[in-house]
Amino acid sequence: MTCTYTDIPKLGFGFMRLPEYERDGEKVIDIELVKGMVDAFMDAGFTYFDTARGYHGGKSEAALREAVVERYPRESFQVATKLPAWMAKSADHARAMFDKSLSQTGAGYFDFFLLHNLGEDRTKLFDDWGLWDFLAEKKEAGLIRNLGFSIHDKADALEEVLAAHPAVDFVQLQVNYADWESETIESRKCYEVARAHGLPVIVMEPVKGGSLVKLPDAAVDVLYGVNPEASLASWALRFAASLPGVLTVLSGMSTLEQVRENVRALAAPEPLSDVEANALVQVRAILNGIPTVPCTDCRYCLKSCPQDVRIPTALASLNILALYGDEHRAQENYDWNASDGPASSCIACGICEGVCPQHIAIVDELARAAELFEGDAR
Ligand code: SF4
Ligand code: SF4
Repeated sequence: MTCTYTDIPKLGFGFMRLPEYERDGEKVIDIELVKGMVDAFMDAGFTYFDTARGYHGGKSEAALREAVVERYPRESFQVATKLPAWMAKSADHARAMFDKSLSQTGAGYFDFFLLHNLGEDRTKLFDDWGLWDFLAEKKEAGLIRNLGFSIHDKADALEEVLAAHPAVDFVQLQVNYADWESETIESRKCYEVARAHGLPVIVMEPVKGGSLVKLPDAAVDVLYGVNPEASLASWALRFAASLPGVLTVLSGMSTLEQVRENVRALAAPEPLSDVEANALVQVRAILNGIPTVPCTDCRYCLKSCPQDVRIPTALASLNILALYGDEHRAQENYDWNASDGPASSCIACGICEGVCPQHIAIVDELARAAELFEGDAR
């Protein structure tokens, strides 16, 4: 299959961290501010909007309709949304999500449609419920122009999905300079697998959910030493945008200032010079030198845990805190990826510690994670 788009402006507007305010104790998307952000984005020549059923408690798709679809000619922008089968109660429920997304966004058709968040045991669900065939039919019917998937897993898992489903048009991957050589995220390896299959890549989390603008001082000094004018976000965005085969780079923007800064960074993105690329290598080395829980995400522990505790995810949240001091991002990672196996459900049987090749004191670390990320202890 071939992606129908080859040349999209390199910044995509992610509708997952929109500005909100409180009304009667409830969080409400600040739609007037979002409209202003959308206008600044479109005025600068950018056209790609990314949403999903699960964002903002199910309100993101409707916000996209109000701020974009109802205000601009349909062919002047692209809409991407996603089907999260793992949120559904049944195959029928999962299928119904497609029509719901069509009505919520009002988009008429999707330029890009994704099976959302493949990886680990989530991947199987999409196969078991026949969703690949279901979405291929929607594409055949003209309701999807390009079909792909996002995945949060390692390169081997990506290879398996692509071998089983070679007819995809694109993939969406976590790519950022901090995780480029990471043993847990495998940014580079995943990117290389996608490219080996000839697929364009849409980049998610280029700024690691905002963590890469919260670098330790030593890392900030390296980047400002090379270019005192460049924002920390611009380094991360340019790294991702300059990779061959990257269709666009998503940023979940929350303020008008972020939109302005990001469109400046990617209006005419220059590839990184050797000096700049080397500066990012130095930043990676600084981050690698910060003590963290030494989990390599090998997942041996997952196979033996009687409680299905999401052990590596909980440890990854602890590490986001240690590396970037980024409480919001650590919590977000925990809420998205560990809620179906929270650290607090650990019964301290110790089986996982017996199989962990890194000899991590998992029970103690999970107690720390539960205290930091769950319930009243937050
Ligand atoms: S100690 Fe906790 S996390 Fe480890 S295997 Fe037992 S229940 Fe699972
Ligand atoms: S076995 Fe140890 S290193 Fe492997 S994922 Fe579990 S905690 Fe991490």
